[in-house]
Order: sequence, then structure tokens, then C-alpha cells
Amino acid sequence: MMPVHIEGNALKARILDQLTADVATCDSPPGLAVVLVGDNPASQAYVGMKKKACAAIGIRSFEFTFSAESPQADVIALIDTLNDRSDVHGILVQMPLPDHMDPLVIVDRIDPYKDVDGLHPVNMGNLLIGRDSLKPCTPYGVAELLKEYAIDTVGKHVVIIGRSVIVGKPMAAILVQNTPNANATVTLCHSRTHNLAAITRSADIVIAAIGRPGFVTADMVADGAVVIDVGINRIVDKSSPKGYRLVGDVDFDGVAPKSSAITPVPGGVGPMTIAMLMTNTVTAYRRLRAQSR
Ligand code: NAD
Repeated sequence: MMPVHIEGNALKARILDQLTADVATCDSPPGLAVVLVGDNPASQAYVGMKKKACAAIGIRSFEFTFSAESPQADVIALIDTLNDRSDVHGILVQMPLPDHMDPLVIVDRIDPYKDVDGLHPVNMGNLLIGRDSLKPCTPYGVAELLKEYAIDTVGKHVVIIGRSVIVGKPMAAILVQNTPNANATVTLCHSRTHNLAAITRSADIVIAAIGRPGFVTADMVADGAVVIDVGINRIVDKSSPKGYRLVGDVDFDGVAPKSSAITPVPGGVGPMTIAMLMTNTVTAYRRLRAQSR
């Protein structure tokens, strides 16, 4: 049987439409500050997409760029300024940062109310204990996609591959909560996991966030499993005008025939990350305004 293709673009469009209507009711525009350090082409592309999404729904975006050699103190000083600005409601520092910068130190500095990436320890802590918080955009987007496609997680075995702070760990924290669209039994696997394939074969839902093209193969997935591919990897493709193409962490052609539902790359999880960033920015705006900030 053909698997359901779990696609993010339609849901993203609907979320952005709702946000556009919501933003139209704001007495001043929500503002998102995007900080880019260095000239990583993928980061530049992501920042461009985020600015475009802001413009489309009526959020003001402010871009700040630093050279790769800039001292960390300069980025910290900018964050201090942005924390105090009343026209900035969200602050996002595009990752990855150059090696001489410590992402934890930088994220720590962001006002948790403006932390629209949901990476500040206060937001991560709130997420873990099940309190309302700004949630990391990618796992938040995956959870919304599962809900949209009515994929039941209650009591299901969800195996997440990858324990990063931006995807794997918060994904586990979201799905393990005692809430209607979560309540999963979560196994979080990583590079030191023994017998990975045996674990993933026992999953009702596999979520791959590894960063290795085609890592999840058909022999690692049970018949009828749901497969969510978070990976976005550039691989050389001379036939493409850009010289590369994007592939996920799942061997789509091999895995799709075994799965009951699967996300394509691109067009699956990717669009949701931006949709949830916009959602978080409007949420941050509303919360700050409620405090007259
Ligand atoms: P990361 O490099 O921070 O973490 C990779 C994780 O994979 C690590 O926790 C590691 O333990 C695990 N891993 C590595 N090798 C493994 C192995 N052999 N077996 C089991 N686990 C292994 O990655 P990340 O930042 O979470 O990103 C993962 C992927 O998701 C990348 O392709 C990235 O581009 C993509 N991504 C996509 C979005 C999106 O919007 N869709 C957002 C963030 C990341």
C-alpha cells in the first residue's frame, strides 16, 4: 500500500494565514531580530526564508550580521540591546556559530520571553516539566504535523535518533508529556546507542534527526511504521542548477514502501520549522504586551 505522504507546506500556509489575521489585530507590528554570524550559505538561506515569512505575515524583521571573526562579546552586546528594545519581541541567533563562540553562553543571554527558538534553559526547563513555554521550532513543528495527520502517539513507541538540543532532546520532552497529543513511550537514541536497528524496528514512529544522508534504511523500520525525517543534508548533484540537492536522513525510496506514513525531504518537516518560528514570535509579542513590555 502507498504510504501517506506527510507534507508540511499546506499546514504551514494555513498557520501563516491565521497568523496574518492575528497580526492584523496587533496595535503595533511584532518584531523579530535575526542575528547571523559568518557566511555559511545554508544559514544565509535560512535567514532569507525567515525574513520572507515575516514580511508575508506582517512581522517586522531586523537583520544583524557579524563577520565570522567577530568577538563573542559583540554578539552579547547586541543581544543586551535587543532585550531592551520594545519593538523587538523575538530574538534568534542563527546556528551554527563559529568555533570561538559558545552557543550556550549566547542563548543564555537572550531574554527568555524573546527566545523564539525556545532554546533558553528557562524555556527548555518549562518544556520538560510540562509548563507552557516557547518550544523549539523544529520539534514543535513535528508535533503539529503528527496532530494534523491524526497520527496517534498515545502509548506508542516513538524512537528518536539524535539527541541534539535543537531537535532530539526537546522532541522527546514534547512527546513524553501527559497531554492528549503526546503520551508516547519515547526512546532517545544517539551515536553511542547499541543495537540501534533492533530498537528502531520496535518503533511505531521513527523520528530521524542525525544529519547523515539516507542513514535510516528499510531494514531498520517495521512494516507499517510512521517515519518522520528531520534531516536536511546537501549532497553534490552536478545535474542540479545549484550543484547540490537536499536529502533527508532516511533512505526514502527504500523506507517508503514499508511505512504507513512518511515525510518527504524537502517539503515535510522543513516548512514547519518556519511556521512555528512565526507562531512563537506572535506568542512572544502577546506575552510581552500582556506585561506592558
Ligand atoms: P546534530 O549534529 O546536532 O546531532 C546529530 C545527532 O545524531 C547527535 O545527537 C548524534 O548522537 C546522532 N548521531 C550521529 N551519528 C549517529 C549514529 N551513527 N547513530 C545514531 N545516532 C547518531 O544534528 P541536528 O542539529 O539535530 O540536525 C540533525 C539533522 O536535522 C541535520 O540534517 C539538520 O540539517 C536537520 N535539521 C533540520 C531542521 C528542519 O528545519 N527540518 C532543523 C534542524 C536540523
